[in-house]
Amino acid sequence: MQGFLDRIGDVPVLTDAEGIRERSLDTYWKAAALARDGRALLPDAIVRPRTAEEVASTLAAAAAEGVPVVPRGGGSGSQGGAVADAGGIVLDLSALDEILELDTSALTVRAQAGVPGLRLEEWLGEQGYAFPHYPASLHLAQVGGYLAAKGSGVLSTKYGKIEDLVASMEVALPSGELARTVPIPRHAVGPDLNQLFIGSEGTMGVITEATLLVTPAPEHRSFRVVGFEDLATGIDAMRRVLQAGWRPAAVRLHDPEATRMNLARVLDVDVSGVKLVLVFDGPKPLVETEEREVLRSLTANGGVDEGPDLAATWWENRFRIYYPPFRPELPSIWGTIDLAATFGRILPAFEAVREMMLAEYSRYGLVFTGHFSHWYTWGTMVYGRFVLEEPPDDVDAAIAIYDEIWRRSSEVILREGAVINDHHGVGLKLADDMAAQYGSAWPLLENIKRTLDPTGTMNPGKLGL
Ligand SMILES: Cc1cc2nc3c(=O)[nH]c(=O)nc-3n(C[C@H](O)[C@H](O)[C@H](O)COP(=O)(O)OP(=O)(O)OC[C@H]3O[C@@H](n4cnc5c(N)ncnc54)[C@H](O)[C@@H]3O)c2cc1C
Repeated sequence: MQGFLDRIGDVPVLTDAEGIRERSLDTYWKAAALARDGRALLPDAIVRPRTAEEVASTLAAAAAEGVPVVPRGGGSGSQGGAVADAGGIVLDLSALDEILELDTSALTVRAQAGVPGLRLEEWLGEQGYAFPHYPASLHLAQVGGYLAAKGSGVLSTKYGKIEDLVASMEVALPSGELARTVPIPRHAVGPDLNQLFIGSEGTMGVITEATLLVTPAPEHRSFRVVGFEDLATGIDAMRRVLQAGWRPAAVRLHDPEATRMNLARVLDVDVSGVKLVLVFDGPKPLVETEEREVLRSLTANGGVDEGPDLAATWWENRFRIYYPPFRPELPSIWGTIDLAATFGRILPAFEAVREMMLAEYSRYGLVFTGHFSHWYTWGTMVYGRFVLEEPPDDVDAAIAIYDEIWRRSSEVILREGAVINDHHGVGLKLADDMAAQYGSAWPLLENIKRTLDPTGTMNPGKLGL
């Protein structure tokens, strides 16, 4: 470690216990459970570079000295990606916090990786623009973390996931170099290197800056709830809407348990059954036409129009579920199994996961909900959210159950032809399932990692690399 510290010169370093503890966790349940048991997974030091050049020189020093580097944005990730389970340094990117340039004709904004999501949104909003990536962690996450964990916002059905909202990036490489990707987002000058780093979770390099695609702030927003007899009818009705070319901004289909836990309980309203919450946004005439035509199609295919009120209330209060008393607390065990699949496979995959969870974990006070909330023309994803309210008292026994849930659910998801994660990433949580997920392409990803990071110091173990 001393050799590393000598090499990085005057790049700011924190070694005090409090500073280290504050930056040692993301929102991965297992790391939090270990920390509560006095077994926190701690780095040796926190390095807080002030410039992209300092990020690059820090990576080169770490590679030369064999020191593991764990990049950290807002620390809101749920997969353990920002946890230093192998020691080394946490690279705190929060000092790279400048919004550099708004191009109002191209509708792009250039921002450093450590810019907090909420600040970017407020800054753009003051000027009549929006970055249409609204994860529920807007108030916690940073631009670099959005990209590195390949996230998705609540309006993704219309605007796309984070990988659709990037023009170009600057990345610091383990070699100590800074690389800028091609400045124009659509081109035929070879593969898109942005996509090599989006979702790479700090295993290939560190994103220091990104040029993101923004939109005018929406002129109008409207809300609707449509009820369905069952999930199959709701999914098929929504498939028809999307494949006809309509793009509601938010589309959230709740199973009866999710309606009970996420809508009735949190919003304190009397509602039950399968409910589809819709938000439309954009220019008013477009919103009015889209809302009318989408409702016409949904009601012709088994839906019952239940008006705008519940959806508008949900939109106003959508962050409430992440705070007490609705957020689960230790010693409960919780997590989100977010799988994605084509329309033909999504419901069997979700039901197989639910059946497995009910059969194996009901004895620990399981609550299991499902809502389908990011939709594509080819399929959708579902959050299988579980809480075990009566876990064993012994922390190691609880951790064994937690690990077993991910192993079992990934097995079921892969067997059903779905993908083990839609937008939370892999981190440590799903690392052991990556080789099975990639199959014949796994050695290719391993080779890319080895080429970029020959000393293996970039976030070792994350993504299964
Ligand atoms: C309440 C809550 C709600 C959430 N809602 C959503 C949601 O709606 N949609 C969604 O997609 N996710 C959601 N998440 C998960 C999480 O917020 C996202 O994954 C987010 O993108 C992580 O950003 P972060 O800045 O906090 O990254 P961190 O947690 O700090 O890091 C995430 C990963 O990226 C790496 N990393 C961070 N910055 C960089 C960088 N500059 N260069 C290279 N690697 C880097 C880290 O090493 C780690 O592997 C939620 C989390 C919480 C706690």
